[in-house]
Amino acid sequence: MQATSARAFDTPHPDAAPPDWEVVILGAGVSGIYQIKRLVDLGVKATVLDLSPDLGGTWYWNRYPGSRFDSESYTYGYSFSKDLLDEWHWTERFSGQPENLRYLNHVADKFDLRRHMQFNSKVDRMRWDEERRCWHLHVGGRDEEITARFVISAIGLLTVSTPPRIPGMEDFQGGSWHTFFWPHEQVELAGKRVGVIGTGATGIQVIAEIADKVGELKVFQRRPNWSAPLANGPISEKEMADIRRRYDEIFKTCEGTPGGFVHEPDRRGFYSVSREERLALWDKLYGSPGFAIWMRNFREIFTDEVANAEFSEYVAERTRLRVKDPKIAEKLIPKDHGFGWQRVPMETSYFEVYNRDNVELVDISETPIDRITKTGIQTTDRHFDLDIIVYATGFDAITGGYDRIDIQGVGGAKLAEKWKDGPSTFLGLTVHGYPNLLMLAGPQSNSASVNYPRSIEICGHWITSLLEQVRERGITRFEATAEAEQEWTNHVREMYGTMLMRKGKGWFTGYNSNVPGHEHGRTRYFVYNGGNPKYQKEIGRIASAGYRGFELS
Ligand code: NAP
Repeated sequence: MQATSARAFDTPHPDAAPPDWEVVILGAGVSGIYQIKRLVDLGVKATVLDLSPDLGGTWYWNRYPGSRFDSESYTYGYSFSKDLLDEWHWTERFSGQPENLRYLNHVADKFDLRRHMQFNSKVDRMRWDEERRCWHLHVGGRDEEITARFVISAIGLLTVSTPPRIPGMEDFQGGSWHTFFWPHEQVELAGKRVGVIGTGATGIQVIAEIADKVGELKVFQRRPNWSAPLANGPISEKEMADIRRRYDEIFKTCEGTPGGFVHEPDRRGFYSVSREERLALWDKLYGSPGFAIWMRNFREIFTDEVANAEFSEYVAERTRLRVKDPKIAEKLIPKDHGFGWQRVPMETSYFEVYNRDNVELVDISETPIDRITKTGIQTTDRHFDLDIIVYATGFDAITGGYDRIDIQGVGGAKLAEKWKDGPSTFLGLTVHGYPNLLMLAGPQSNSASVNYPRSIEICGHWITSLLEQVRERGITRFEATAEAEQEWTNHVREMYGTMLMRKGKGWFTGYNSNVPGHEHGRTRYFVYNGGNPKYQKEIGRIASAGYRGFELS
């Protein structure tokens, strides 16, 4: 461990008091845990503030039944400690929320990180102080102001839940909650009449998990999503031992693939093989574990309408084979977008749920919800009596967490205002006008398009190296230039041009019908689509060029 350099982070004004902290990290989830570990190792005086009562972020909150990874568990763990890799046994190929939270707690305890974390500490305001070259952070609740030379936001991609805005929601007398806030105590489902609104990745998980546990299940679907089998299963001691032996190779593979997974795209061109060969590949991929169906596929699936339509029809056929009622099957097959235009949820026996007598699909695109009543949901067609309503209605993704902190940069300029029509960043890591603020999993970084922890280790490493340099050189202020930010944002925007995803109505393009200003599908350039290796190369190039695109002083 390196000792804290006496010179590092010294304030430029000898009379001014030094900030309380060299670094404040916002968020104690997957990214905040990684970042604090790296800074503690560097000897930095840092603390983590999290609004939650405990660590874990996404995995602390999302306790709904069926909540689990769709990344292979063994690619989701941190790679920085051989000891940790050697001692942790993932029990399932795609492990569930309880185990994921246990893992994060284990990491925090093993490396004694908890003492660097403060919970129930929601930062609601941040103001840049040019004179002192530090951030003032207001911690709501305890109404305290603290100062930090640098702030690293590790607030996650999907942490601002968005319940719908339906009249009467407060009147309902049964239990109701957004999946993000699924109660911590056991929810009695047996015999209950449950309604689920939303059929994204979350809805698909929760519906499949509870269908055989509830009395009646009504699924209120506005638009269906493409989905394919996750193929989860246990990992035996023997398999885990083999995974441990192969960890280096596994992480190396993840580093080299566009999505940061173990799945490599099929390098043959879609058009260079026969239809029979394409079908043979798809038969192999459908039912293969994880995102294989998406990421081991031909690249043209993502960019070429004809290729995408052919593959979408293949998945539609597979879906039809699993749903007994052909009319219901058709309702479960998207007609307004192709496979992969939106984030593809992976499922476990999801489509078979609709073959059950206690499950009904309510197509609210035909008969919309009028209001929530004291006793259930009233659509334009009829009333559904319910004991529980589950809102699986998604998140104000990526920028939502930033919008909810009043972040004032140089001259008091508000970040929410700057980003009101969509984010602009340099490298997805920094923003012009907001010196000494670094983002982990920021908009326009690789975090939304890459296996999350794999991206976090790349970005967190880059941030740590920058801070190391800054300390060595006695730098107290860094800021991305306006030109560098513009160039990067143009680059991110251009990459959307080639992707069919640009036409999707999902969070990858900033769509959310429950967030004012996000309803109309104006594209927001949230995601870096160049793939993991290219992103690493880009950010590495900037660092090697002495942080070109930054003003350091
Ligand atoms: P989502 O993908 O945004 O889906 C929200 C669903 O709610 C959509 O079906 C949407 O319908 C519906 N909806 C929203 N507002 C509605 C309203 N007012 N009335 C009726 N329906 C409404 O959100 P999510 O399912 O929570 O997933 C978000 C992301 O979280 C995923 O894409 C994924 O990245 C992540 N996630 C990951 C996992 C995992 O396996 N690791 C699990 C869950 C979530 P429309 O499509 O018509 O808008």
